[in-house]
Amino acid sequence: MPITPTQKIWMDGELVDWADAKVHVLSHTMHYGSGVFEGIRAYPTSQGVAVFRLADHIRRLVASAHILMIDVPYSVDELIEATALVARVNDVRDGCYLRPLVYLGYGEMGLNPLPAPVNVSIATWPWGTYLGEEALKRGVSVKTSSWRRHDPNAVPTAAKSVGMYVNSSLAKVEAIKAGYDEAVLLASDGRVSECTGENIFIVRDGALVTPPTSDAGALDGITQDTVEVLARDKGIEVRHEALIRTDLYLADEAFLTGTAAELTPIRAVDDRIVGSGAPGPVTTEMQRAYFATVRGELEQYKDWLHLVD
Ligand code: PMP
Repeated sequence: MPITPTQKIWMDGELVDWADAKVHVLSHTMHYGSGVFEGIRAYPTSQGVAVFRLADHIRRLVASAHILMIDVPYSVDELIEATALVARVNDVRDGCYLRPLVYLGYGEMGLNPLPAPVNVSIATWPWGTYLGEEALKRGVSVKTSSWRRHDPNAVPTAAKSVGMYVNSSLAKVEAIKAGYDEAVLLASDGRVSECTGENIFIVRDGALVTPPTSDAGALDGITQDTVEVLARDKGIEVRHEALIRTDLYLADEAFLTGTAAELTPIRAVDDRIVGSGAPGPVTTEMQRAYFATVRGELEQYKDWLHLVD
């Protein structure tokens, strides 16, 4: 998925031309991976482009930085404004993906990150469906990874931290090379954690079940939370319960959730067809509700939209 450049990237308070948004090769985060980031989407709505759950994403960014003891030199409000500004100044009328990044810059080396300068960038580009249109319609095949998800006492899985994504990339490559679309990772105790950049749900007897994120070493997903709210409002039961891999094989339906992947049905797990092999009724209903929500079509969820203009 090559990046389609837009015009401006916000760097430490300045709007810089896309081609000039560069950092020094000796920037601290490049070497040791201490940095935090967010992935946010903005969608076209009848009132213009709106960023979905912007404040929640920025709060998670600052919480991630807090865990890593990185002092972000901007307030939550300033970062919200800056992110909206980036969506506004770039030509992204059809919606976009936004990527705020807090990184440790140039000037210090060594494993103590505390003296390193803290820099912030916010970029945006149009990003279509992450796993493909076909994936949204027909579902993806996933493989249980041979890589375990991080133990939360080895690295803080509650933080969306740059270096931790080596784990996700290893699992992704393994899955793709083996002919699957996505990987599901187990936690060190063997229970289901999450996918490489998505949370996972199963449907069992009409209820949604997802692993408890803190126990499972998974990120507290904002899409996961959105789906839970939408489901409960529809009277669908939602439970946080530990799952093992055979729970995925035997589920009535399964899907994954993430800002990039949105709500993508799971067709098969480790070559076992899930349910009928086509997106099931609950998955389809939740997917419709999710897209209607992010596109501002449902009045009761409009507080989640941050209009850019
Ligand atoms: N888990 C991981 C590891 C992720 O990278 C993401 C994407 N941020 C998610 C889950 C889903 O989180 P969200 O719904 O907030 O995008």
